[in-house]
Amino acid sequence: MENTNEMTIVFDSRPVNEGLARVTVAAFCTQLNPTLEEVADIKTAVSEAVTNCIIHGYEGKVHKIWLSCSLKGRELLIDVKDEGVGISDVEKAMEPMYTTKPEKDRSGMGFTFMEAFMDEISVESQVGKGTTVHMKKVIRR
Ligand code: ATP
Ligand code: MG
Repeated sequence: MENTNEMTIVFDSRPVNEGLARVTVAAFCTQLNPTLEEVADIKTAVSEAVTNCIIHGYEGKVHKIWLSCSLKGRELLIDVKDEGVGISDVEKAMEPMYTTKPEKDRSGMGFTFMEAFMDEISVESQVGKGTTVHMKKVIRR
């Protein structure tokens, strides 16, 4: 029988909750016996996505962030959603070293890391409505 599982958590867009998001995905994916490297990759990708919701989506104001994880077989799917300002040009936003906050010491590498550490990423966004990042990783062993 195929192995499936799902969970969603909703939390405040406070920097302290980046750690919560990281350990939550790590705990969720342990049932697939991932390598330490796979877990580290997933945690990094999730923390980049959550940081983006906090800094860009909500511009430091406190609103909700949704983190959903699901498993289908060896495939881990992760969605990180905010109802913040949205992104007008997603393709441009995803380019390496593109940032709208250079004055805040942002390097514009968040999406590039998510792409590097996960097998697939896609971004849905609407200006004034919010942003959802979908990520997928196949846990190999
Ligand atoms: P870094 O992640 O290296 O600190 P960064 O956050 O600017 O810098 P990315 O994570 O690659 O770089 O994001 C690129 C750009 O996409 C951001 O500068 C921002 O303009 C936009 N962006 C990303 N996530 C969101 C979001 N959730 N809501 C609104 N805009 C976003
Ligand atoms: Mg970022």
